[in-house]
Amino acid sequence: MTHSISIAENLSAIQSRIGAACERAGRSPQEVRLIAVSKTKPFSAVQAAQAAGMVDFGENYVQELTEKIHAWQALPPQAQQPVRWHMIGHLQKNKVKYLIGNVALIHSVDSLTLAECIEKEAAKQDTLMNILLEINAAAEESKWGFSLAEAMDAARAVASLPHLRLQGLMTSAPFTEDPESNRPYFRSMKELSREMHSQGLFSLGLEPFPFPILSMGMSGDFEVAIEEGATMVRVGTSIFGTRDYSSK
Ligand SMILES: *Cc1c(COP(=O)(O)O)cnc(C)c1O
Repeated sequence: MTHSISIAENLSAIQSRIGAACERAGRSPQEVRLIAVSKTKPFSAVQAAQAAGMVDFGENYVQELTEKIHAWQALPPQAQQPVRWHMIGHLQKNKVKYLIGNVALIHSVDSLTLAECIEKEAAKQDTLMNILLEINAAAEESKWGFSLAEAMDAARAVASLPHLRLQGLMTSAPFTEDPESNRPYFRSMKELSREMHSQGLFSLGLEPFPFPILSMGMSGDFEVAIEEGATMVRVGTSIFGTRDYSSK
């Protein structure tokens, strides 16, 4: 059962909150792309969001992502609404091969061995892969990603891999009732990204993402993230409702 009306309404509410946050920050809403995080939700929910104009979808689990890609491919061509898939969850090396050629951007590159594995698979398939480095900006024990201190060296190493296009950075800030408490983390992400950009470490000007990417902000804190410079926000619950993990 899809709640296509509420999904459309939720999307339009999110878009206006994005617009308001941009206005507060003196930014253009064109600089901020909304990624609809559809993990644990059925493909019909993706279709409802597509009907409301969404193109970019984020998924955390390779198996679930693959199932949704297959569901899309099984549609008659005239029913295939445009879609770009984003891998945003921790990625195991043995699953990398399923993503190359199928996803527009891997947000969650959290180790050099993973980056090297993506490089190898992309080379094998003679293609380029767009990636972000995941940064554990708040140094949480439970989170994946490079520390702020490791990030520059990691970016230099990754920028030298010929089949990867490093396009920016991603972070998941701590879960909190008070989004203001995440502002300093978003701010340090912006500083780090500016530094990497000034050192020429990002591959930019390339479709479909011709801008430096700062992927940060979720349902609880995307407005603060936008005020601090996010160019991609990853929103799930506020679009699709709460998630049920009981079948996972
Ligand atoms: C689930 C998830 C999101 C979306 O979170 P919501 O709070 O539901 O908006 C964003 N980013 C990552 C990495 C996630 O795992």
